[in-house]
Amino acid sequence: MLGKGSKLYSICKLKCPRCHEGDLFVNNSLLGYRKMSQMLDHCPVCKQIYEPEPGYYYGAMFVSYGLTTGPTLAIVWLMMLFSEEVTVLMFIGALVLSLLLFLPAIFKLSRAIWINIFVSYDPEAAKNPQARGH
Ligand SMILES: [Zn+2]
Repeated sequence: MLGKGSKLYSICKLKCPRCHEGDLFVNNSLLGYRKMSQMLDHCPVCKQIYEPEPGYYYGAMFVSYGLTTGPTLAIVWLMMLFSEEVTVLMFIGALVLSLLLFLPAIFKLSRAIWINIFVSYDPEAAKNPQARGH
């Protein structure tokens, strides 16, 4: 399931959605804060353009809302185990904590999911690189 050719592979490994070989980010680690938001302009292997138009990743914001929900609910659940009542303030604390802990992963995964919605895997892409937007 996580082999080359599946969208999950491209998303989890932060690889180019077209050839599944080139990295998407300058720092391609899910946990690293260093150069977190720096994405490559195009795939170094197949020349797929990563930002075909300005504002391409605005939609990824909505994906990141969804991805933030999981860790936040997990932290709230942990709070419920150790406290009789979870207040609004505690909930906001959980949200801030999960954002601080998982920001690089949420940022990168939401962009990887977003570009994978529009770009499909092409097993021949690495052999004949062409600059393409979609
Ligand atoms: Zn590529």
